[in-house]
Amino acid sequence: MTRSELLTVGNPGKVSHSSRFIAVDGPIGVGKTSLARRLADSLSADLVLEEAYENPFLERFYLDGQSAALPAQMFFLFARARQIESLRQSDLFTSVRVSDYLFSKDRLFAELNLSADELSLYKQVEATLAIDAPVDIAVDDLCTSCRRCTIDCPPDAILDDKQIVRGVEKWYVDFDKCIPYFAMTEGCGICIEVCPWSEPGRGVVLSETLLKKRRERSDVIR
Ligand code: SF4
Ligand code: SF4
Repeated sequence: MTRSELLTVGNPGKVSHSSRFIAVDGPIGVGKTSLARRLADSLSADLVLEEAYENPFLERFYLDGQSAALPAQMFFLFARARQIESLRQSDLFTSVRVSDYLFSKDRLFAELNLSADELSLYKQVEATLAIDAPVDIAVDDLCTSCRRCTIDCPPDAILDDKQIVRGVEKWYVDFDKCIPYFAMTEGCGICIEVCPWSEPGRGVVLSETLLKKRRERSDVIR
C-alpha cells in the first residue's frame, strides 16, 4: 500500500476513488485478514482473501518443509490465477477491492522455498497461466496535467473533470456529443491523434519519466 493510500484509509470518509486496489500484508498471525475485512467493510469494497486454509498441503509443508513445498506453492499459484481472472471479469462493475495479501508474494515465496528444479517448473506453469495483475504505468499522472484531448475535441465531448461512473472515478467522454461528430467526419479520432501516448515508441520513456517524477515527489513528502 502506498503512503497516500495509507493516509486516505486512515480517514475512510476521504478515501480516494483512484485507490482501487488495497493490499494488506505482513507477518503470519499479525491480523491481516481482520484488517482487510474491516477496511472492506468501511469502504464498501470487495474483499479478496488468500485461500490459505483451503490449501491441503500447507500443514505438511509446516511439518516437513521441503517435501511439501512444491504442491503447497502450486496450490497457491492456481488459487491466485483464479482470483485474478475473477477480478478481471468484474473490473467494470467494482469500485474498490481490499486484499489480505500481495499477489506478488506468491513468486517471492516460491523463490524462497523451492529447489532450483522446482522453481523452474513453477515458472513454466506460471508462464502458461499468463497471470498479469494491473500495472500502474502512471498514465493518469500525465492526463491530470495534459488535457490535450479535452482542448482539441471539436464538439467538447471530453469533460474537464473526472466523473463517477458505476462507483469509479474516471475521465469521461460524452458520447451524445462525440458520436454525431464522429459519424459526420467518418471517424474523427482527433483525441487519439493528439495524445502523447499514441506517439510510436514514446510510451516507455514517458512512463519512466512520470514514475521517476512520482518517486521524487514522494521522497519530498517523506
Ligand atoms: S491527450 Fe492523452 S495524455 Fe493527454 S489528457 Fe488526453 S488521454 Fe490523457
Ligand atoms: S473522437 Fe473526436 S469527437 Fe469523439 S471524443 Fe475524440 S476528438 Fe472528440
